[in-house]
Amino acid sequence: MELLDGKFLAKTIKAELKEKVAEYKAKGWRTPHLCAILVGEDGASQTYVASKARDCDELGMESSVLRFPSYISENELLGEIEKVNINKQIDGLIVQMPVPEQINPMNVMNHIDASKDVDGFHPVNVGKMFKGIDTFLPATPYGIMMMLERYKVETSGKHCVVIGRSDIVGKPMAALLMQNTNPGNCTVTVCHSRTTNLKELCLQADIIVAALGRPEFLKANMVKEGAVIIDVGITRVEADNARGYVIRGDVAFDEVAPKASFITPVPGGVGLMTRIGLLQNTLKAYEWHMAAETRQF
Ligand code: NAP
Repeated sequence: MELLDGKFLAKTIKAELKEKVAEYKAKGWRTPHLCAILVGEDGASQTYVASKARDCDELGMESSVLRFPSYISENELLGEIEKVNINKQIDGLIVQMPVPEQINPMNVMNHIDASKDVDGFHPVNVGKMFKGIDTFLPATPYGIMMMLERYKVETSGKHCVVIGRSDIVGKPMAALLMQNTNPGNCTVTVCHSRTTNLKELCLQADIIVAALGRPEFLKANMVKEGAVIIDVGITRVEADNARGYVIRGDVAFDEVAPKASFITPVPGGVGLMTRIGLLQNTLKAYEWHMAAETRQF
């Protein structure tokens, strides 16, 4: 069994990106800039946004956070997004989800300029991804694809079972794994809460991506010998420690790991690679904007 070590890989890729940023700045170009919009006071959202800002800082990229109260109207928020859309100093914009209930998240995603949509949620970018056109990829599946590539995990011709069909993980994961690319070329089965023979399907899988948000759902008796196991789940489970909780993945790691050829840990796996996905997208947005500004590339 080999661990797919997100911590090690994230560190390696961050060093590569940092070097790229330094090269661009040495040419006299402006600094890449990621802007995050945060609505309300949700603790987890604040933590996520802070870690994204820290990542930018580490790479020599600029970041900014626009904070708005939870009672902001949808129209006002769309107006704020518009201001970022036309700001030529900003390359990437993310609106941290969830947003309060008076705001339709779909309207928010659709309003972000597609060339700044570094979360890859705008319908234009989703369409491009499905057609295999170079674009921003949703950060979690993108991070997983990087992991498979860097660890040289063979995917061609393999049967992959993706558990979960959300817009941010399951659906794009399935789309990327079925593309005629490397990694890719999988035969993909997508499972969800209405799937009736999930265990049977998992037992046929060479690769399982567990993204359902049910702690330790995937047990050893659902996995065939030598399978590749990607655990996307992050759930806070109550625990008797100082924080009052521990983070659990969707895979019962201790019993599944001995059967797996490769497996991601939680924490230290997919979560860190998701952050890399966002940074890669931000740099891509910057390169595209600079290509237009300088007519280079
Ligand atoms: P989501 O929107 O809640 O989607 C969960 C999916 O799992 C749904 O498609 C649901 O089916 C399916 N599902 C739920 N229970 C199931 C069951 N018993 N059997 C089969 N399928 C089942 O969640 P998400 O946003 O995709 O996130 C999934 C997990 O990944 C969460 O733990 C989340 O915190 C974590 N996550 C981690 C990262 C990271 O960076 N590591 C990033 C994003 C999310 P239906 O469609 O039928 O309801």
